[in-house]
Amino acid sequence: MSNKKKLLIVEDEEAILLGLVDVFVYHGFEVETAVDGKEGLNKAKNENYALILLDVMLPTMDGYTICNRIRESDLIQPIIMLTAKSSEEDIITGLTLGADDYISKPFSVRELVLRVEAVLKRSKSLKPENAIMQIANGIKIDTANLVQVDNPTPLFFTRREIDILQYLQNHNERPVPREELLEKVWGFKHADSIETRTVDIHIAKLRRKIEVDPKSPQYLLTLRGEGYRLHSCLDQHD
Ligand code: CA
Repeated sequence: MSNKKKLLIVEDEEAILLGLVDVFVYHGFEVETAVDGKEGLNKAKNENYALILLDVMLPTMDGYTICNRIRESDLIQPIIMLTAKSSEEDIITGLTLGADDYISKPFSVRELVLRVEAVLKRSKSLKPENAIMQIANGIKIDTANLVQVDNPTPLFFTRREIDILQYLQNHNERPVPREELLEKVWGFKHADSIETRTVDIHIAKLRRKIEVDPKSPQYLLTLRGEGYRLHSCLDQHD
């Protein structure tokens, strides 16, 4: 049996695909490939890869749709998007749909390998704690299965949303700056404005799930200029 980490590379440009396969085989990975979107999605759903490298522009189904479908079925396999364009909106779309990181073409092989290794390291350290988390509004969440408990029509969460809630809850004595969330939850060391917007989009989605009125949040608070703070259960007596 092989102990090699298995990657899936979904890329329709043959020259790029072959180059990527060579690089990752050389770095000790076992590599599987798909050259169109539907094939990529099928493989991702039927196998538990250590990581998926996902091109955006693909025949039959684009990379965003694949990323979204993978995340909808609760798969937590790390995904790095290979974005052809470095436009802000493309990058935000990928990160909002649950990609773990992105790299813009043309990219350096060395940078890509470093990013893959960083995402793999992170996903290992963020293994789900098998626990029930209770947030101050009484919502209880099974953090391993990403779903609210004690509710016949439960809320569903993404891995990233749970990681954000857990981080905020573990540090709820103070506001947490967006840059800190990006470093600790996403693993991005030097956040830029695109990435900080991604945090805001995730917070907005979380508020739509957990707040009675997402426009005037009572639990997931913004402290202007300081960051986000999750109202603690201990605050409730006031
Ligand atoms: Ca392509």
